[in-house]
Amino acid sequence: QWGAPVGKHDAVAQMLGRMAADTYAMEAIVELAAAMSGRKTLDIRFEAAMAKLWHSEKLWDLVHDAVQIRGGRGYESADSLRARGEDPMPVERCMRDARINLIFEGSSEIMRLFIAREAVDSHLTVAGKAIDPRLPVATRLAALLKAGAHYAVWYPARGLGWGRWPRYRDFGPLAKHMRYANRRSRKLARTIFHAMIRFGPGLERRQAVLFRLVDIGCDLFVIAACCVRAMKTIREQPGDRTAVELADVACKLARRRIDGRFRRVFRNDDLEIYRLAQRAMDHRYSWLEHGIVD
Ligand SMILES: Cc1cc2nc3c(=O)[nH]c(=O)nc-3n(C[C@H](O)[C@H](O)[C@H](O)COP(=O)(O)OP(=O)(O)OC[C@H]3O[C@@H](n4cnc5c(N)ncnc54)[C@H](O)[C@@H]3O)c2cc1C
Repeated sequence: QWGAPVGKHDAVAQMLGRMAADTYAMEAIVELAAAMSGRKTLDIRFEAAMAKLWHSEKLWDLVHDAVQIRGGRGYESADSLRARGEDPMPVERCMRDARINLIFEGSSEIMRLFIAREAVDSHLTVAGKAIDPRLPVATRLAALLKAGAHYAVWYPARGLGWGRWPRYRDFGPLAKHMRYANRRSRKLARTIFHAMIRFGPGLERRQAVLFRLVDIGCDLFVIAACCVRAMKTIREQPGDRTAVELADVACKLARRRIDGRFRRVFRNDDLEIYRLAQRAMDHRYSWLEHGIVD
C-alpha cells in the first residue's frame, strides 16, 4: 500500500514486531512451565495458571492484530476468499476460535482471582486477624504482635536482595532483564504487602488492584522464561543471535507493562469506574441506550 508492503509502514511494523516477540514469549513460557511440571517436587500452580491466562490473552491480541494487518481480507471468511481466488487464510475463523479461550477452562477473571488468592493467602494466614476490624481489639493486638515478629524479618529481606551487576552475568546481553526481574519481584512482594495493609480484608474486593499485581507477576515470569530460553539457544547454537533479538524485545515490552502497572496500583480511577458501573446498572444513564437497535 502507498508504494510499499504494509509491513514497511511503521504502524503495521509495530504490530508485527510485537507479534514476533509475544510468540517467542509464549513458546518460552510453555517450555519453562512444561520443564517445571516434569519435576515432580515443584509446585507449579502459579506457573500453570499464568501460562493459561497469558497465552489465552496473547493469542487473542495476536489474532486481533493479524485481522487488522490483513485488512478486509482478515475479516472475510476463508470460503469467501477462496471464491474470489485469494489465498484462503482462515484468520477470521482463528479470531472466533481464539476468543473462547478467555472464557472457558477458567475465564481470565477467574484465573486472575486464583493467582491473586495464592499470592495473598500467605499474608492473610500471618496477618489476617491483625487487620480484620470485625475482631475484638485484644485478639487483633495479639495477632499484630505475632505478625510484627514475622514481618520484621520478611519485609527487610524483600528490600535487601542484590539485583544488580554482576548478578546474572551468565545471561550475557539479557542479564539486565534478569536483574530487573529480580528487583521488581521483590517490589511486587512489598507492594502486595502494602495493598494488604491499605485495604485489609477488603483487598479481595479490589479486583482491579489485585489484577494489576497478578499481571505484573505474569510479566516477570515472561522475562524469566524468555531469558532462560534464549540462553539455552545460545549455548546450543553459539552463532545464532535470533533468539536474543526476540527475547530482548519481549522483555522490553514486558518491562514497560510492569512499570506502567506499578504506577497505577494505587493511583487509578478504579473507584470512580466502579461507582459509574453501579449507577449504569441502576439505569441512571438509560438515555445512552436510546436509538440502539435491539
Ligand atoms: C464452546 C464452549 C465449550 C464449553 N465446554 C465446556 C466443557 O467441556 N466442560 C465444562 O464444564 N464447561 C464448558 N463450557 C462452559 C465454560 O466453562 C463456562 O462458559 C465458563 O466457565 C464461564 O462460565 P459462565 O459462562 O457461566 O460465565 P459466568 O460465570 O456467568 O461469568 C460471566 C463473566 O463474569 C466473570 N466473573 C464470574 N465470576 C466472577 C468473579 N467472582 N469475579 C470477577 N469476575 C467474575 C467471568 O469471568 C465472565 O467474564 C463451555 C463453554 C463454551 C462456550
